[in-house]
Amino acid sequence: MGNKTKTHIEAEDTMVLSEQLRKLSKLQTFDNRMDSLYAQGLPDDGSSRLGPKQKEFLRERRTMVRKLDDGLVNRYERMRSSRIRGNAIVPVVNDVCQGCHMAVTKSLIAELLNGRSLVTCEHCGRILYLE
Ligand SMILES: [Zn+2]
Repeated sequence: MGNKTKTHIEAEDTMVLSEQLRKLSKLQTFDNRMDSLYAQGLPDDGSSRLGPKQKEFLRERRTMVRKLDDGLVNRYERMRSSRIRGNAIVPVVNDVCQGCHMAVTKSLIAELLNGRSLVTCEHCGRILYLE
């Protein structure tokens, strides 16, 4: 029984990874929205305390993060707070990384299509996914 279950999970790995990446890009959209709100000043009363709106945002964010792999989220957050300003996960469109707009090699595209491992851009280091 144990073996069967394991094989089953492995067979679904590809789906799990693409699903994780999809959720991660959703989290990023959410974070970007939050960032732009904070950039315009605090949405509630302008005080430095967290208003109800921000608490709601944080709650919503925690729910999203819970569904994601810890390692993936850590990596994403490290990238967002370090050298990469803005998006840490970007789609590849027409073989071009949408983070740095450089062409992605055929072997990376093949890895992306394979969907077995996390692929990062060799130019900018952002996490790549296919839309
Ligand atoms: Zn890139």
